[in-house]
Amino acid sequence: MNKNQLYRRIPKVDSLLKEERIRTRIRSCGKEPVMKAIHEETDELRAFIEDHEEDEEAVDTRISEMIPHIEERVEKDTQMNMRPVINGTGTILHTNLGRAPLNRHQAARMADMMTGYSNLEYDLDSGKRGERYAHFEQLLKEITGAQAAMAVNNNAAAVLLVLSSLSEGGEVIVSRGELVEIGGKFRIPDVLEQSGAVLKEVGTTNKTHPEDYENAIGEHTKAILKVHTSNYSIVGFTESVGTAKLSEIAKAHDLPLIEDLGSGVFVDLSKYGLTYEPTVQDVLKEGADIVCFSGDKLLGGPQAGIILGKEAYIARMKKNPLTRALRIDKYTAGALEMVLKEYRSEPEAVEHIPVLRMITQPYETVAKEAEDLCGRLKEKDLQAEIETQESEAQIGGGSLPLERIRSRAVAIKPKEKSVSALEEAMRRLPVPIIPRVAKDQILLDARTIFPGQHALLADELKSLIGGEFQG
Ligand SMILES: *Cc1c(COP(=O)(O)O)cnc(C)c1O
Repeated sequence: MNKNQLYRRIPKVDSLLKEERIRTRIRSCGKEPVMKAIHEETDELRAFIEDHEEDEEAVDTRISEMIPHIEERVEKDTQMNMRPVINGTGTILHTNLGRAPLNRHQAARMADMMTGYSNLEYDLDSGKRGERYAHFEQLLKEITGAQAAMAVNNNAAAVLLVLSSLSEGGEVIVSRGELVEIGGKFRIPDVLEQSGAVLKEVGTTNKTHPEDYENAIGEHTKAILKVHTSNYSIVGFTESVGTAKLSEIAKAHDLPLIEDLGSGVFVDLSKYGLTYEPTVQDVLKEGADIVCFSGDKLLGGPQAGIILGKEAYIARMKKNPLTRALRIDKYTAGALEMVLKEYRSEPEAVEHIPVLRMITQPYETVAKEAEDLCGRLKEKDLQAEIETQESEAQIGGGSLPLERIRSRAVAIKPKEKSVSALEEAMRRLPVPIIPRVAKDQILLDARTIFPGQHALLADELKSLIGGEFQG
């Protein structure tokens, strides 16, 4: 058939605009994205005809699918690129999945703050300019016993600010066993250089002794830095100098002892069966003058870099011009206050902060949740073998790298699709599901999946491997 005759079969824009389904889209999304989708679809159809001139039937089929295609295009175009996903990986602080989630109640209160004005830097008592740290500084002091506190954009920024404020132009002593790379280009030696300080390495990779620090102190020394080796572990013939001993050395030479704690935890996790991780409170008690850590690792809050310690040092940081470039934004300041409030009572914190809840949840509870999810999937008659099995969750985010938390997962062995094809399809769902992929099965770890997501997860999997969709 003649190409031009086929072109004429493509519905005109005017007639498409009269279609009820198209009009519904215009009502919900506005005319502009719908018009864009119509034009794109028409262009693609013309290209299709160009290639399939001989195949009248194929062209007609393609034309008959025009409206659903337009709907799909509008859907894709108006959907946000960043969107919620279901974390089935069992990694609680998954940096690629945004680390710590807030709970619904916390998020709902944030909505008020985000859609209106706030007293971010306005002191309601005096009616004058206030500090954005004022909203959470007192809380941090109460929880940790620190003299003063502030927060910046993230912990990388905190380390940079601390070093730049306390040691620019001088030397900072760091153990060779603590010259770590955290990931995303954050390496302690590079950050030190960036801050304008000179790195003075002491000790060896596996062992550093108190004398190593003492012998390195000279007239140019400005600080001692201790870095928590969050994301790896040296085992065997090892020795490092603890905070208490380092604090003695620092005091004797009138130097600040700075600790980059990485994760920063307020709750003693050993009470819940995990390895003891020094809490912020303990480290301050042992004599660290300044500590800094992330807001969105074990603390379970928003992305932030929290800095605590001696008032005189914190005052220098607040005055540093870098602070303006690294400052915490207003949403974060609000979210941080909200999460910190939970820590005034440990049981509340463990109950209300999703990260702590996931970490401390007893295995039996997780196993029940896995059974619930498994049952819902079985009800959907999926083309797959489905069962629960033992699993190991992990904390992630470079925290407690060796720690494994006993968990339970739903294992899915698809019958007609390969595991990799199913995994890819799961990533393309409206609410993408990110599983852990084992050799011949997909694992959904119940520890990181919220029970409120079970129904949605089951519906979504049905759309991929439900019985009636299989040919
Ligand atoms: C994670 C980590 C950082 C970086 O913190 P961000 O909040 O991701 O910027 C710095 N130091 C240590 C020891 C860490 O573990």
